[in-house]
Amino acid sequence: MRNILGEFVAVKIDSCEDADGTYCDQKKEITIEKKIKDKHRRNYVEIHELVHAIFDRAGICQGPNITIDIEEIIAHCIATAFIENYDFKPKQVD
Ligand SMILES: [Zn+2]
Repeated sequence: MRNILGEFVAVKIDSCEDADGTYCDQKKEITIEKKIKDKHRRNYVEIHELVHAIFDRAGICQGPNITIDIEEIIAHCIATAFIENYDFKPKQVD
C-alpha cells in the first residue's frame, strides 16, 4: 500500500499487457509489470504511476489544459528526476 495524500493505493506486481505499469483510478491500484526485474526501472514505474495517483487524488482532471500527454510528460519527468537523484527504499504502509 501507498499513502497518496491520505488515500490508500495498492501496489501489485502482475502482468500489464502492453504497459510497464498502470494506475487504475477506480480500484485505486497501481500495477507494475512482473517482467521488469531491474530495481531502478521498477522504481521508475512505481513513481511514474504514483504521479498519476496524485493527479487523481488532487482532482487534477484531464481536460483542455491538462491533457493525457501533458500528464504523461509530468509523470515521466518527475519519475526520471527522482530516480536520477535518489535511492529508494519503499516503506510498507498499511
Ligand atoms: Zn503514465
